[in-house]
Parts: sequence; C-alpha cells; structure tokens
Amino acid sequence: MFKIMKIFAKIAVLTGYLSWFFSVFCLADDPFQIVMGDYLPQWQKGYLDLHHISTGRGDAAFIIFPDGTTLLIDAGDISEIRPRTLTARNARLKPDNTKTAGEWIADYIQQFHPDKSAPRLDYALLTHFHEDHMGEIDKTSKPSKLGNFLISGMTEVVETISVHTFIDRAWPDYSLPEPMQTKAFREKMKRSEDFDDKSFMATMEAYWQFLKAHGKKHGMIVQGIKVGSNQQIRLQKQQKAFPSFSVIPIHGNGLAWAGWENSIFSLFDNGKTPGENNLSIGIRIRYGMFDYYTGGDISGNDDYGSPDFSSEEAKVAPVIGPVDVATLNHHGNSDSQSSVYVRTIRPRVWVQQSWSSDHPGDDVLSRIMSNSLYPGRRFLFANNLLEATKNVIGSKVNRVYNATSGHIVVRVFDGGKRYQIIVLNDSDTERKVSAVSGPFNAR
Ligand SMILES: [Zn+2]
Repeated sequence: MFKIMKIFAKIAVLTGYLSWFFSVFCLADDPFQIVMGDYLPQWQKGYLDLHHISTGRGDAAFIIFPDGTTLLIDAGDISEIRPRTLTARNARLKPDNTKTAGEWIADYIQQFHPDKSAPRLDYALLTHFHEDHMGEIDKTSKPSKLGNFLISGMTEVVETISVHTFIDRAWPDYSLPEPMQTKAFREKMKRSEDFDDKSFMATMEAYWQFLKAHGKKHGMIVQGIKVGSNQQIRLQKQQKAFPSFSVIPIHGNGLAWAGWENSIFSLFDNGKTPGENNLSIGIRIRYGMFDYYTGGDISGNDDYGSPDFSSEEAKVAPVIGPVDVATLNHHGNSDSQSSVYVRTIRPRVWVQQSWSSDHPGDDVLSRIMSNSLYPGRRFLFANNLLEATKNVIGSKVNRVYNATSGHIVVRVFDGGKRYQIIVLNDSDTERKVSAVSGPFNAR
C-alpha cells in the first residue's frame, strides 16, 4: 500500500514539473494565448496577419506578410450625401463621426503596423472603382496637400500613410467597361442625371490626379494588375526566409489565371462589357498549408438566383481551389456565392465585409453554411450585421455567426500550419479583443 502511495506521489511531483515546464517554455510564447478584453499581442516575424477593418462605410483589409511587408486592399468611404447612407439601411460610421472612414483606416493601420515610428505601405491594391472600395468625392471631401484635388477613402489613407506600389485593375488605359479617359465618356457622365454617374466621374478625376501627384512628389509606383503573376506582390524584406509564401492575382479587369505558369483567359466574350463589379481584382494568398482568397465584388448567380455556369465565380473557383479562409464576394449580396462556387472553394472560415442591410442575402447564408455543398463545421464572422438583417435572418443568427460586429483579424502562424480568428471591438479606438476562435489547423 505504502509503495503504491509513493509511486502516486512521484507521479504528482513529475506532472507538477511538467505543467510548470509547459507553462513557462511552451505556452508563454504561444500566439493563441490571447486574452479577452486585452490588446491583440503584437505582430511578430512569421505571422501572417489579415485585418478586415470595420468602418461601416465599405471594405478595407490591412495585411502584414510573415516578413513584415504590408498590403492594404481597398479603403471604402460611401458619401453621406448618397440618399440612403444615413438611413437604417446602412451601417453607421464606426467608431464615431469625429473622423472620416479614410482617416479611421489610417488610424487603425498606425496602431497595428509593425513599424510604429514610420508606418508605410509596401502595396495598396484597389479591387475596383466603387465608392465602398475606393471612397467617393463630394462637397464635404477634404482637399489634398499635394494638389488641387479632393481626397476620400483610399486617397485619404495614402495622404497619411505613403505607399510604395499602388495597384489598380485598369492602369494605364482605363478602357473597360468603356474607355473612361475619353472626352466623350467624361462629358456623358457629367451630363447624366444619375447620382452614381456624376459621383463616379468626380471620384475618378480626383483619383487620376492623386496617382499623378503621389508619383511625382513621393515616387509612388503605379501598376495595373498582372493576373497570374506571383512576382507583382511579393515579400520585400526577407523573401528567402518564407519560401512557401506567395500572392497570386487570380482575376482582374476581365482576365483570369488558368492555374499554371502564365496561362490567362478572358472572362467575357469579345464586345460584351461586364459591369464594374465583375472587373474586380481577386487574389489568393498562400502561406505553407494555409490559403486565403478575397475577390472584391464578383458575382455568380443569374437574375433568378440560380447558379450561372458562365459567371465569373464559376470560372475562377476551380483556379482558386479549396481555401481555409475566404471573404464573401460582393459583401454577400444575393447575386454572389453560387452553389458551384461555394462547393469548390469550401472554406472553414467566411469573413463578411458588410455595410448594408442586404448583406448577406438569406439564400447566400443558406448556401455558405450548407453541409450538402461541402462537409465540415464552418465559422462566420461579420464586420457589421445590421439590425434589419438580423430581423430577416431570425434566430439562426446566434447559431451561424461567431461575430456580428468588429474588426476581424485572421492570424496565421507556425509557418502556415495553424491560424486563429480574433475579433476586435470596433466601437472605440482601443480596439481590444472581444472574441477568439481557434486555433485551427490549415488544410
Ligand atoms: Zn462593394
């Protein structure tokens, strides 16, 4: 009996030592020791951090690559002069209206940038020319310090945080959906009675002046998207340290990568002009086993809501392939996330970058959560799920959403083997942790 007790005592001492050893040497540095209500532990070399910023006024994603190279995708700011911006149909400006959405995005980047003393962006990428992705010029817009033009959204961010390489879908000729820099087009848009046309042209004119001014005064390089090239967006600081990391533009400006070498195909028949949304840039980021896809506002369903097999989603899904995390195309509008697309890319985690009460369509929600389209548990995080949308979705909200508001951060570590999702409070400027999910194994 005494012998047995002695053995138990030895085991107890040993397990005590073991647990102390693990707590000191293993868990202390473990990135998933994130504390609710505390600040997000700083980015470290080897982390891929994907921040989906919540402003209520459109999309913005700030990405830190494993070597510290930085990329901003979109910086939307919908004008308050638009008829529905200040109604219950749209999200309110977050955290409050003491700054514009562009200024809040710059403020956010300054907080989380690896280089606090002199934050700058290695890359900025504009998926397409819509206000909820690039900003919108109106009579309240601020003047640029660099010339006689106004700034909003993306141009407002770059006014504060300089960019080395700026990429859009259409530089230098801006010829789709029709030649935008011709006199005829400019006059047609200015004459139009339509709010969207007038506003679009004012925004593009200011944007072109911005590109020129920042090129001239700060040496900012401007490029059109190079679909299928893994050399356009790359690690700038320690490329050799992370050989498994790559960024590839899958589609943009009417072209798509076929999936090998420099093979490119056209997404649309000659002469057919897709709308601005379907000209969006979409990229895949790969880090070891981990894959992430974000595709702007492309669509996949026809007018009756059924999958359109000649849609952009259906054409690019096989090239994207299965991913771990994807953002919802077109904010989850009912023309997006067709069943064929959902079944093909099958992410474990969906991120919903939303600002309107029709984000997401109820049918979209059914498809992305459907176990008949692909197996396995999945996780859904939204920047802003509006009250009106919650009323439509009903009690399902609590069942399917892991977060309905906040900045959604995906942190990938262990060389791309594992990742977790951290939600940060978007109602103040401290941006502390409000929810954590994972870690998940990349697959
Ligand atoms: Zn959009």
